[in-house]
Amino acid sequence: MAVPQRRISKTRKRMRRTHFKLSVEGLVTCPNCGEMIKAHHVCPKCGYYAGKATYLDGKLVKEEKKAPAKKAPAKKSSKKSEAK
Ligand SMILES: [Zn+2]
Repeated sequence: MAVPQRRISKTRKRMRRTHFKLSVEGLVTCPNCGEMIKAHHVCPKCGYYAGKATYLDGKLVKEEKKAPAKKAPAKKSSKKSEAK
């Protein structure tokens, strides 16, 4: 049987184990509100499914009830730096 030539140090062992991670399976980001939701399920937060309003608790969720999640913050600081 193969035997390790030398002992793995604590640091090397711990560096290797930094890559041992648990991942959450089956969760996706809601395209409407940005919440983490179950894949292939109606979003419990905004009631949207596949980008369309659906019935949530017996009521039709109205369109444009919530603005879509902001992906990038507004760029205000860049214009100031260009002016000078
Ligand atoms: Zn949502």
